[in-house]
Amino acid sequence: MVKGKCIVLSAPSGSGKTTLAKQLLQNKLLQLAFSISATSREPRANEKHGEDYFFISPKHFQKQINQGDFIEYEEVYPGVFYGTLREEVERLWSEGKHVIFDIDVKGGLRIKKQFPDQTITIFIKPPSLATLKQRLTNRETESRETLKMRLDKAENEMKLAPKFQHIVHNNILSEARAEIEELVTQFIKS
Ligand code: 5GP
Repeated sequence: MVKGKCIVLSAPSGSGKTTLAKQLLQNKLLQLAFSISATSREPRANEKHGEDYFFISPKHFQKQINQGDFIEYEEVYPGVFYGTLREEVERLWSEGKHVIFDIDVKGGLRIKKQFPDQTITIFIKPPSLATLKQRLTNRETESRETLKMRLDKAENEMKLAPKFQHIVHNNILSEARAEIEELVTQFIKS
């Protein structure tokens, strides 16, 4: 199969990476498509199965791990699994698309390891942990416990930023967007 490219956008939760990924997708010239991950967490109120994630039970997730269905998977939070489905990525490549991965930092680095020449890794850095906390609080999707969990994880994820090929600071959304678009355009052309 002719393989497309992989665009990994990783960042701590609340850094604006999903917004930036969605904006990138709007550039039709780039022929991009999202890899929809599977997760064992419950959907949030506005989320749809097959659009935001494939929401599956922990038991089904385990079954798919055993079957080797994932390119990478991760217990992102204790007891909560997320993973990239091989079938999903190959389907997008077969449609002639390049695939955007909006996944956690460790997962992003695993994609790079699996497809070294085809992958660009971009780390999106929030201005500070305080800003991250504010964004997550404003989002009103987190309980006190999950907020703390996400912030603890964010602190660890920031330490892995130097392992990415590019670091984009998301202080001003429009600037971050332009920077990412330029990196991805050049990468796809290469
Ligand atoms: P959320 O619960 O906020 O949707 O996502 C939590 C974290 O899981 C985010 O950092 C998100 O990027 C990450 N994530 C989503 N899908 C995947 C995946 O397929 N693999 C990995 N490793 N992380 C993922």
